Amino acid sequence: MINALRGMKDTISPTSEIYAHIIETCTKIAQNYGFSFIETPILEETALFKRSVGESSDIVGKEMYQFIDKGENDVCLRPEGTAGVVRAFIQQKFDKAGGVRRFFYHGPMFRYERPQKGRLRQFHQFGAETFGEGSVREDATIILMLKAIFESLGIGYTLEINSLGCPACMPLYKLKLVQFLETLDGLCEDCQRRKLTNPIRVLDCKNEHCKILLADAPLIVEHLCSTCKEDFATLRSILDQFNVAYVVNPKLVRGLDYYSKTAFEFVSNEIGAQSAIAGGGRYDRLVEFLDGKPTFGVGFAMGIERLMELVKMPEVKREGYYIGALCEEAKSVVYNLVIQKRETSKVLTQYEPKSLKSHLSNADKNYVKFCVCIGEDELSKGVVWVKDLESKEEKMIKLENF
Ligand SMILES: [Zn+2]
Ligand SMILES: [Zn+2]
Repeated sequence: MINALRGMKDTISPTSEIYAHIIETCTKIAQNYGFSFIETPILEETALFKRSVGESSDIVGKEMYQFIDKGENDVCLRPEGTAGVVRAFIQQKFDKAGGVRRFFYHGPMFRYERPQKGRLRQFHQFGAETFGEGSVREDATIILMLKAIFESLGIGYTLEINSLGCPACMPLYKLKLVQFLETLDGLCEDCQRRKLTNPIRVLDCKNEHCKILLADAPLIVEHLCSTCKEDFATLRSILDQFNVAYVVNPKLVRGLDYYSKTAFEFVSNEIGAQSAIAGGGRYDRLVEFLDGKPTFGVGFAMGIERLMELVKMPEVKREGYYIGALCEEAKSVVYNLVIQKRETSKVLTQYEPKSLKSHLSNADKNYVKFCVCIGEDELSKGVVWVKDLESKEEKMIKLENF
């Protein structure tokens, strides 16, 4: 017997209904906000992720599904969605054309993780990216869009925000941070390495001892230049205006190297321990990193599997028809009726004749609104028998009026 690979799983009804409901909800809201659907390849050149996600990150260093294909190309399954969208944006020369473009995407991502509890090697994300819009109002808009999505899905959250500064203020802050880190003794091994490669990442180390050492670390929010300070204040005032509760978490730094200014994370407290359900922010330098013309960028990604554990499904409404034959002679009439009716409605059936009781029970199990049966009697009179399973009302309807 062949099973699915470790860390990969099938999504089957009713779970697949929850998946579809999440995608549908997110799609509808993203479209209302002016985003359009983009689909990019799952397989990309490895270099794309090395340059965008960064070689020092765990994702690129340890978790990529990377291989050499038959044409000797170094390729890998995408570990995240942003890089492919940015690649497509540049390949279409949208960076040179200028203007604002908004995209949303969803689909599988792959990371070769140690199969701990709940960690999948193939997982799914929904994300959105805005290019060419430098206003902090776009950052606020994306947060409001996520708020609308979570409210529509019935998911509770807390929102954490931070500003990561810009090329004018971040390097100065980084110097100050490194000077501070030099004074510390006993940082964990990871932090020793990060101190050299990406000192900002030391701030979100999960090691308890590191956390204690870092209690007095200088914070970026206290070292922002006037533009970044102003933008951060605007962001907070918009969130206040729309009643979005948030906390400023000065130690919230994104895992990826190209983020600047706004960083945010939606956290759920419902899945046992605190866990991030969506994260994003501004990445004004990424397009340039990938050889495009410098272009503003801001976006987010969210993990669909985590949402699936939290989502409250709307109450299922009875809909559509179940049509069944009560005798051998009615079989072809029923079959024709089923195919015709499917032009406008959801219709279930069984090909073989069954008793009325058996059809009714099937109709009920499948949660349809109308159970329709045709037997000898109905055939001779040119009618169909219909029962409304909600109101329990039964009646005969002329075949041509049905
Ligand atoms: Zn700045
Ligand atoms: Zn550490």
